[in-house]
Amino acid sequence: MSWSFKIGSIAGTAVRIHVTFVLFLAWIFVAGFTQNGADAAWSALAFMILLFLCVLAHEFGHIFTARSFGVPTPDVTLLPIGGVARLARIPEAPGEELLIAIAGPLVNVAIALILMVIAGADLGAGRLAAIDSTQVSMVDRLAAVNLFIAAFNMIPAFPMDGGRVLRAALATKLGHIRATEIAATIGQWLAFALGFFGLLYNPILIFIAIFVYLAAASEAQVVALRAISRGVPVRAAMMTQFATLTADEHIDAAIETLLRTSQNEFPVVDDAHRLIGLLGRNEMIRALKTQGPHARVGDAMNTDVPTISHRQCLDEAFRILREKSAAAVGVVDASERLVGLVTSETIGEMLMVSNALPAGARVGPLSRPANA
Ligand SMILES: [Zn+2]
Repeated sequence: MSWSFKIGSIAGTAVRIHVTFVLFLAWIFVAGFTQNGADAAWSALAFMILLFLCVLAHEFGHIFTARSFGVPTPDVTLLPIGGVARLARIPEAPGEELLIAIAGPLVNVAIALILMVIAGADLGAGRLAAIDSTQVSMVDRLAAVNLFIAAFNMIPAFPMDGGRVLRAALATKLGHIRATEIAATIGQWLAFALGFFGLLYNPILIFIAIFVYLAAASEAQVVALRAISRGVPVRAAMMTQFATLTADEHIDAAIETLLRTSQNEFPVVDDAHRLIGLLGRNEMIRALKTQGPHARVGDAMNTDVPTISHRQCLDEAFRILREKSAAAVGVVDASERLVGLVTSETIGEMLMVSNALPAGARVGPLSRPANA
């Protein structure tokens, strides 16, 4: 994740802190200081740090469970809205996903229980409502806030843990894709409700709502794409009709090509038709503006273009596009010659076609079973 830095690692998983999280802690301190003086500021800061240690423990609940199923867990990032543990993949076996999802909230329940039994935390009704009051002891507040984290995360909507629990439960009967669609739809309705309450009561809720909405939408899209692209040879869906540029061409010639095609991304090839770079519309315009019409394409292009073999599957191309945030993936044959291109437009078209396909029909690599 950009704008974050590593502060250490626990059992081989890097712990990263996002810049906004540091700003958030500074803001807590300054706000406490101006309102109630130095003592209150230090105690507010200490509470926030303890709270985020609990969030970190929650994330490691997910991480250790995921690892027991063989899922690599490279890092965890702390943000002001909580922690994000990165899992290399989400297991599709419903039982495994369920255990990984529920492990986080269970850690918080365990922390609350330990605080109550060992440190004598008191969770009387009045105290739960006074989490941000300095009248209540830190142990009580910490126990209450851990129960709150557990309950909030069990809301049955993506991207909350409860959404994953719900999907896993539905997936045993309905399959992974349908279960994801339902959990994502609930997540998006929840986001609307949150946004509405945010408008009325608290603007911070609007930001959380946007985050929930986008996370739910992207989860649904990733799963739908994986479903329609799995096992489809990349040859069957890649673009094969596109203009290419050469490194020695000038930007003015490239812009003529831009104007007479509908492409936004132009592969740059050498004499043997091997892919050596990619020039997007925006970079082309920028080069024209800063270096003039006689700049070389080779100087303006991006040389870090991922490629895959034409024998691989489409879901692999989509995975590379997503993980590298690349504009395009070049498809190359055995002698490294460029034979096709997969871009985000390919993704959009695949999704549109598969949504519009009547039952029992087949178009190119896409088909829909007659009973679905
Ligand atoms: Zn969680």
